[in-house]
Amino acid sequence: MSKDKKKNDITCSFCGVEQKNSAFLVEGDGAFICDLCITKAQEALIVNESNQKTTTPLLKPKEIKKELDQFIIGQDRAKITLSVAVYNHYKRVLLNYKNMIIDKSNILLVGPTGTGKTLLAKTLAKILNIPFAIVDATVLTEAGYVGEDVENVLVRLYQESNYDIEKTQRGIIYIDEIDKIARKNSNPSITRDVSGEGVQQSLLKIIEGTTANIAPEGGRKHPEQPLIKIDTTNILFICGGTFDGIHEVIERRIKGGGIGFDRKINKSEDKYTNLEHIQVEDVVKYGFLPELVGRLPVISYLDYLDKNALYSILVEPVNSIIKQYKELFKIDNVDLIFEDNALHAIAALAIERQTGARALRSIIEGIMTDIMYAIPSEKNIKTCTITKDVVNKKSSPVLTYYKKTG
Ligand code: ADP
Repeated sequence: MSKDKKKNDITCSFCGVEQKNSAFLVEGDGAFICDLCITKAQEALIVNESNQKTTTPLLKPKEIKKELDQFIIGQDRAKITLSVAVYNHYKRVLLNYKNMIIDKSNILLVGPTGTGKTLLAKTLAKILNIPFAIVDATVLTEAGYVGEDVENVLVRLYQESNYDIEKTQRGIIYIDEIDKIARKNSNPSITRDVSGEGVQQSLLKIIEGTTANIAPEGGRKHPEQPLIKIDTTNILFICGGTFDGIHEVIERRIKGGGIGFDRKINKSEDKYTNLEHIQVEDVVKYGFLPELVGRLPVISYLDYLDKNALYSILVEPVNSIIKQYKELFKIDNVDLIFEDNALHAIAALAIERQTGARALRSIIEGIMTDIMYAIPSEKNIKTCTITKDVVNKKSSPVLTYYKKTG
């Protein structure tokens, strides 16, 4: 910059604004930059940084599904839908930075209990290496319909993100038991279930994208407490629920009549055979605000898990329950063996409990507790075999011993 340049002639080398019209100008080597250009440059850096974080690696839908396959048995439709939705979500995040606004595709998962809804959401977050929080919608109902309580779902994510705001704003929140905040009466003109609807209204704001003020430690906000601003625009919300009875709503719509629900429900799984036909209007009929369902544009369903599926869940996932127990026994130098018909017997018992795959762990705990209590104190055990009779509590595990030396 020439020495004789008068103060009033100085302009920003980037946008050309005169010094008198800017808050300040910073002088570099023969150039000046104004306060506004500094802010813009800073924003560009943040965008670049966050683009790098989300794009590396930006897994393609098939790759996401392949990863999910390692942990979750079956549920192909839900896996494919989720893989596409998550891929689009991250593309959308990138495009939004380029000022192209694409609507967010939050997800609603409907399906029987213990079929992998939470596991899917949790595994997705792990694969994508982003913060993940689970909240239970029933807690929100209990807390009443005060908006700030619902904002606590963000506190959980903020804590999971190690109190990093930027990370929080790209995380996934899984809202479990969303069906429990349905309006009890599907006709809005009759007595309203105000609390359910109040929670839905508050959730709607957060899900569609807002800047929420949260108390860093959760709980009630105090006037003197500093609040953290969280922009929820890019937080992906996955909501899940069993939606008991929705098969009737689907059936009625398909049949086209108000009444006429006459399909025989003989077995509990029959309730889930028409979930694949679920549509937005069914969820609205079930007791949800159309605006809220509109903010959950991706609806998918999970299949009822039959005996064969439960058997596969015992053995196939990379971290299956059986593999976990085998590892535990290995530490005590014992080879734990489950006979094949024992595994089938466990699956059969789990079916009776009607809690999907959730029952598997508690059944195995029940079988294994006594033996896990005894084994560490016995030095010589080589193998421990679980037979069908052990599962049915008719006999004890079969043990073999190392030959005593000397
Ligand atoms: P929900 O559908 O009620 O959210 P979860 O995802 O919490 O069910 O499942 C409970 C447990 O059951 C999981 O932690 C997992 O161990 C097992 N599980 C459920 N579904 C599957 C599945 N499809 N594949 C493998 N494990 C599963």
